Amino acid sequence: MDRAAMALAKLKVKNIRFDTGLGCKPKFTAEDVAAALAGTETGPYYLALAKYTGDLPARLALETTVMCYLGDHIKNKKLLSDGEYAALHHYTHCLVRNVEPYRITDIDRQKCKVWHQLVRLLVDHAVIDHRCPKCNGTGNGKRYPVGRDFAYKPCTRCGGSTRVRPSNRSNARFLGVTHPTWAEKYEPVYRDLYPMLAIWEQHAFKHLSQQLFSRIDHQIGEALRAC
Ligand SMILES: [Zn+2]
Repeated sequence: MDRAAMALAKLKVKNIRFDTGLGCKPKFTAEDVAAALAGTETGPYYLALAKYTGDLPARLALETTVMCYLGDHIKNKKLLSDGEYAALHHYTHCLVRNVEPYRITDIDRQKCKVWHQLVRLLVDHAVIDHRCPKCNGTGNGKRYPVGRDFAYKPCTRCGGSTRVRPSNRSNARFLGVTHPTWAEKYEPVYRDLYPMLAIWEQHAFKHLSQQLFSRIDHQIGEALRAC
């Protein structure tokens, strides 16, 4: 794990302190992350803020941003009829303005809520790490001796991958649809959109690591000058 990754892992506990070993202790908090993220695009900004600081408003803003992308995707791929798309467009428009969708029928609203739920699922999977609970993210299973040393079998739960992907069945349950409906209608959209969130995270991570560590270097420099 590089320095940036370690710093960001620590940011998850919100109140962190970097001991530089130079007698000065620069502190970084959730506010520092927000400041360091300034200048990134909307998607990466809210994703990193929701992920690394657990900020709820940022998470809701991320949902709205992804919902807009979902609408564009559905339109480009012509996945819905014109009427259904118009309803989704109105629903998203109201979500952005934080008002109840008033211009659509109850049936259309219900359909839109399932798309919204798909967006929540995407955001969940991007923000939560889904570390394997059995091996605690190490990927190690049972220990066995190898000569004088020992080795580990891969964890039986995650197969050594360290992460547990939610099953299609649990995804379908989350959306409140049947498994075949998930597989046919929603899973392809999930697969199309998830890589976008992964790219947003990479962008934000790169930006954060540059910003945070230039600030650390700056603080160390300041402390050294003060000595
Ligand atoms: Zn495991």
